[in-house]
Amino acid sequence: MKILISDAFDPSLPERLARFGEVFDDTSRLSEANVVLVRSKTKCTKEYIDSAPNLKLIIRGGVGIDNIDSAYAETKGIAVRNTPAASSVAVAELAITLMLSVINKVPFGHEGMVTGDWRKKKIKRMELFKKTLGLIGIGRIATEVAKRAKGFEMNVIAYDKYVSTSDVAELKGLDEVLAKSDFLSLHTPLTDETRGMINKEMIAKMKDGAIIVNTGRGKCVNEEDVAEALKSGKLGGYGNDVWYSDPPENSPLVNAPNAVLLPHIGASSKENLLRIGDIVVEIIETFQN
Ligand code: NAD
Repeated sequence: MKILISDAFDPSLPERLARFGEVFDDTSRLSEANVVLVRSKTKCTKEYIDSAPNLKLIIRGGVGIDNIDSAYAETKGIAVRNTPAASSVAVAELAITLMLSVINKVPFGHEGMVTGDWRKKKIKRMELFKKTLGLIGIGRIATEVAKRAKGFEMNVIAYDKYVSTSDVAELKGLDEVLAKSDFLSLHTPLTDETRGMINKEMIAKMKDGAIIVNTGRGKCVNEEDVAEALKSGKLGGYGNDVWYSDPPENSPLVNAPNAVLLPHIGASSKENLLRIGDIVVEIIETFQN
């Protein structure tokens, strides 16, 4: 079996996979590969799949498989697998990090310290305590966010079009979640329904000064509308890990006020990369038998 590791995985993975056959990371050898391991960087389009005539299995280390043309892969007899359960804690911790970072103005304070500007009087902090957190989507990651938010004694509510019960959040309609949330954290996959879901009209239904955190998918928000709402003060802050493209091109969020921006690192904790590695080994083992 020939295994191409196309994106960044834990450095121990090549050695752990060696028992299954040859493992390489030279993407120019795609045509030889029977198995390809990707995260979000490699785009498995029709053209990509067509240039891999020996491919039998694509493994996406992570949750969203929107970078893989799964329907086309299926027509070619190529199986697509992912590791959905691995990343929940890593992404949930980042969502909380972004909320805390926005309300404590961590980047602004840090920048002041390294440039010799003592910004003590310029920083007005805010607490999570007793605030309402609204979750859009209450799947694996949002559930972990809810548990952690309760540690801060937040009131947690959620809207999910396809889920009607939750042990960790009070489920509400979308408009009620928008109207009641001091913080809104986005956890839906990118689908035709969620594309651009958080736009001007939705933001208008939110409290003045509310804060949005996006660790879901960049295209679930309209970036122009979010940047506009930050400039006008309608939104009090925005914490973002996900973009229209990695890296972003001409994103209006980059120059927007009160935004804390990260380069899509939700799944990149060292613990998570190890967990993903464990599941990749299991998938290949099962696939081989
Ligand atoms: P999940 O499938 O467990 O949960 C997603 C939830 O969204 C489901 O409960 C689903 O019913 C709900 N949903 C779907 N369409 C909806 C709609 N139109 N309106 C409201 N709710 C809707 O997935 P998860 O493991 O929690 O991951 C969520 C998303 O997080 C992934 O799809 C991925 O896009 C993103 N993610 C980001 C990173 C990162 O690095 N920042 C890492 C992993 C996952």
